Amino acid sequence: MPASRPRKGSCPACGQAAPHLLDWEYSGLGESVFNYTARFHACRSCGLVYVENVDDPTLARFYADECSYFEKPHFSVDDPANHEKYAFYASVLGGHGATGGDMADIGCGRGGFVNWLAAGGWQGRCCGIDVDTRSLCDLPNLPQNVSFRNGDVLNLPFADASLDLVTSFHVLEHIRNLRGVLNETARVLRPGGRFLIEVPDAERYATRPVGTAFWFSIREHINHFTAQALCAALNACGFHTEQVLRQVLPTPEFSYPSLMLMARKGTGTDCKLDTSPGDVAAFALESRQALRRQAETISALAPGEALAVWGCSAELFSLLPLLDPARIRLCDSSALKQTARYQGLPVQSPAALPIEGTLVVAPYLHATAIRNAALTLGWPAEAIYVLR
Ligand SMILES: [Zn+2]
Repeated sequence: MPASRPRKGSCPACGQAAPHLLDWEYSGLGESVFNYTARFHACRSCGLVYVENVDDPTLARFYADECSYFEKPHFSVDDPANHEKYAFYASVLGGHGATGGDMADIGCGRGGFVNWLAAGGWQGRCCGIDVDTRSLCDLPNLPQNVSFRNGDVLNLPFADASLDLVTSFHVLEHIRNLRGVLNETARVLRPGGRFLIEVPDAERYATRPVGTAFWFSIREHINHFTAQALCAALNACGFHTEQVLRQVLPTPEFSYPSLMLMARKGTGTDCKLDTSPGDVAAFALESRQALRRQAETISALAPGEALAVWGCSAELFSLLPLLDPARIRLCDSSALKQTARYQGLPVQSPAALPIEGTLVVAPYLHATAIRNAALTLGWPAEAIYVLR
């Protein structure tokens, strides 16, 4: 495995030169692992943009101690939007004749896809693996061929060459040791076994902006992939790419640009890729500029008055380091977040916050609901500023 790990300072996907692109200061509540400045690098060859100065043990601490994926509606296994997505994944597998065999979904979250696949008649063992045991919630009436295990994607609990298929949806953008995961996946697959990967399509971020600097504000997304980057990393780890798919897929809260690669273990000819990767680095630089303009706009609101902010979201954690903490008051409806502080500032209950100055509604995805709740509490409409 170490043989195919790129040198420090080189691209984790293709191994070519990847110079420093920009610094992005993040923040978090309390002793968050994200109270740091991320150093983004960009590969000149495959176009990957990634955070250089974070490691997987640090990210693991985030998932264990800070992250609340397990309670987010986003990942509800019953939501029709997620079922639509599972059906799409299964159709991609079916297009390659993959309708059975022993499979594992690594980073399975709540296990929705594994359960859905087995319920649809998949012939073979289906195993969901996740590092966050809180995510492996009790699914009712599990089919007999389904199991779930706590496990690390860098150290999978399977024998060598024991699986026909591995799937990985929204995992690789979270992993610093990219080739470590790909090598480990190659280890557990049988010769000719398939690996279906999905990540956000960084080459299409600009067409699905969601809100200012949204894509680079997701602090735990440390890889922003092009198709070339994924394909190069797969090649370095004993795979070839059979198919690249790009489409917009739904979640319960919004839709996103999806990039999928179907890879196969063993030597072979890659399918045709675009001649040059999309310019993710340019979009990262634009996003940082847009974030600075947003901070300037907010700072200029009612100078001298208090700025109340509702919602400790990822986008707020990108913005806070650019604002004057002396003016800020924070509130959030989550009881868990109300136990935390940001640089000594308490996170209050929205009802406990004095109605004075301007109220900034931070989260892009829940802005309407928060604005309505603020109006109900007595905030005047003209005092509410919604981030976009
Ligand atoms: Zn590269």
